[in-house]
Amino acid sequence: MRDPNCIFCKIIEGQIPSQKVYEDEEIYVFNDIHPWAPVHFLMVPKLHLPSMAQLGPEHAGVMGRMMTLVPKLAQAQGCNPYPDGGFRLIVNTGDEGGQEVHHLHLHVIGGPRPWRKG
Ligand code: 5GP
Ligand code: ZN
Repeated sequence: MRDPNCIFCKIIEGQIPSQKVYEDEEIYVFNDIHPWAPVHFLMVPKLHLPSMAQLGPEHAGVMGRMMTLVPKLAQAQGCNPYPDGGFRLIVNTGDEGGQEVHHLHLHVIGGPRPWRKG
């Protein structure tokens, strides 16, 4: 369930503090410590999965719930409505995909431009 050496598992457990955006039995959402934009939060399954590369059919439920939560939380956190507003969804996977923290996470990035990155 958890990896004792994983920084995001420690955040989920509350061993490392975070600015929580949302939580349920399967999902934890918190603000990125180095935001690119006015809105930048990370969504993680509570189950420790290193990346998208490890997903199987048994994870379709939680991944589907994460995807359907994205637009609701994006708007609640300050992203303007589609189509003038919107948001960017990024899932870095593996070293060549630019992944630094190996606990699967979705970046949700948005809000009024200009952004620091992206
Ligand atoms: P990756 O490059 O793996 O897709 O993104 C990892 C993200 O995690 C980065 O945007 C980084 O700022 C964020 N991050 C790393 N350590 C922490 C932390 O301790 N707390 C929070 N809130 N975010 C973190
Ligand atoms: Zn983890």
